[in-house]
Amino acid sequence: MSDAESPSTFDPVEPNAGEDFEPVDVFPDTNEFDLRPGADSCYKCSTCDTNCPVAEVDDDFPGPKFQGPEQWRLKRQEDDHSIDDSIMDCSNCMRCDNACPSGVPLSQMHNTARGEYVAEEMSKTSIEYWRNRILANYRTSAWLASKVPRLASFAMNFGPARWVMEKTLGVTKERDFPEFATETFREWWEREGAAAGSRERARDARERRGEPRDADKKVAYFHGCYSNYNTPEVGKSMIRVFEHFGYEVVVPEQKCSGTPMFANGMLDDARRHAEVNISSMADLIEEGYDAIASCTSCSMALRQEYPELFDIDGVETVAENTFESVEYLRIHEDLTDEIEAAAVDGDLAREFAYHAPCHARNQGLERQAVELFGDLDGVGVEDVGDSCSGISGTYGWKEEKYEKSMEIGDEMFDHMEDAGGQTGMTECPTCAMQMEHGTGYDIRHPLELLDAALVE
Ligand code: SF4
Ligand code: SF4
Repeated sequence: MSDAESPSTFDPVEPNAGEDFEPVDVFPDTNEFDLRPGADSCYKCSTCDTNCPVAEVDDDFPGPKFQGPEQWRLKRQEDDHSIDDSIMDCSNCMRCDNACPSGVPLSQMHNTARGEYVAEEMSKTSIEYWRNRILANYRTSAWLASKVPRLASFAMNFGPARWVMEKTLGVTKERDFPEFATETFREWWEREGAAAGSRERARDARERRGEPRDADKKVAYFHGCYSNYNTPEVGKSMIRVFEHFGYEVVVPEQKCSGTPMFANGMLDDARRHAEVNISSMADLIEEGYDAIASCTSCSMALRQEYPELFDIDGVETVAENTFESVEYLRIHEDLTDEIEAAAVDGDLAREFAYHAPCHARNQGLERQAVELFGDLDGVGVEDVGDSCSGISGTYGWKEEKYEKSMEIGDEMFDHMEDAGGQTGMTECPTCAMQMEHGTGYDIRHPLELLDAALVE
């Protein structure tokens, strides 16, 4: 029996199940994007506004109600209505989606409006446009850096270079750039024998576990950019843990999930990447694989943002069969029993201050790590509350947003410092950056702890 039949109440495709579905054009001029029903169900309660971390620190930000339903109505009523530039101040944390009691598809409206603002209002020769484009296409920069990782890691943190980047591009010099791995996850994966190697290891694990050697347990791993280029240890833990439970893993061709592109209104870029990801994953799902992500923003993109924004063949198949990695194991394995029988006595035997990323909350996963590791001998995990970390991917890297990003993160930093130990834990790589930046703590992923408890 599984730990939880479904720890998540997340339903990516039918958020208003039971109600009549009638897609609506958000903006009549752009027929690419449809909205779920709900835009007209806003009754102006302002709950979304009071839950918006940007509005909390920025009195000039009009908040999600304006960015969503109000602007949508204005656009419908006035042909010449332009999208307000404040849409670029929304960090795309998606907390307003969860907060709305009426099911208004706020982040979908924001993403659509932001895409239209960038396409029609933002100058394509402006520094802001190019800064945002570079940040949104982190995968390209990281791919280049991975060719000379040591040099890139040094250059990206070289003081004078950072000063120039801030003055010319508007990328804050206050943050440390993450190190680039000297061996990417995908290089390691090839060295480990890729899918064929995984199949053999998974079969051996099944035998050890008393399961049929040819059991049908297989997953396709969406590792995302950060696990590939910066923290391959997360991807390695993901592989080891899944193989420990007898799953054969494949690592298909993939691009960026599109998360930083949505946040910067670069919807054409996001669509190009989504087409590759959906094609890869949909083919494997047809062959019986489930799609697994170790980053909660990546799983969010595949589950919610893709079907909300793109009418690509296979998009709903992918949305319905994508899971966050630990969520998947909680559904299909006796994870709690194994955890109760395990102990961590090595490098990771310590107290963790756990932060649930906003995008994990949107998938109903915010209590997962705390519940799971509560009975693990040798470690303690303390939830640091429900505040936003403030970085929101590329948002906190922008020079003009840096102070706001840190102000939003203050509550989380305080709670981390009040919690026991000096190590953080989260599933989101940019939340991890912010946690480390605000406290100086080492930050780990729940998969690394599972790996230490069950495999190593
Ligand atoms: S996505 Fe986040 S920042 Fe944007 S309007 Fe909603 S709550 Fe505010
Ligand atoms: S929470 Fe929902 S119903 Fe309330 S103002 Fe915001 S969008 Fe409208």
